[in-house]
Amino acid sequence: MGIDDRVGSRSDAASRLDRRSFLQRTATGLGATAVFSIPGLKPGPVTKKKKLTAYRLSTHGRRVCAACKNQAANRFYISSAAANTDRAHLGCNCGIVTQELKFRTWACYFRHGKSGVYDRRGNRQCPAPR
Ligand SMILES: [Zn+2]
Repeated sequence: MGIDDRVGSRSDAASRLDRRSFLQRTATGLGATAVFSIPGLKPGPVTKKKKLTAYRLSTHGRRVCAACKNQAANRFYISSAAANTDRAHLGCNCGIVTQELKFRTWACYFRHGKSGVYDRRGNRQCPAPR
């Protein structure tokens, strides 16, 4: 019994030492690996899939009337076609731009695809575009 204990504790100490130096080596190795793999991980395709595209009229760089400005500032469309057919007035030549929305925001604006337009001035309260 006594001999077995001594042998056991001696080998424990030895393996503990080994493990410590192994862990140190591994940690250094992992650190180096992490530094190299961070740039590769940054463009996350998973988070991109959670965003959906909304379309907006844009007055950027144009001289436009107040009606166009309000329309562009407050309305979001489910498609570019929806934006194109909802111009503030005949002859409006506002551009159509896209804006990425979080899925939850998009779902609120367009009622999960059942509505083609969302107006921030309306009664339906949805999160700010993000
Ligand atoms: Zn316009």
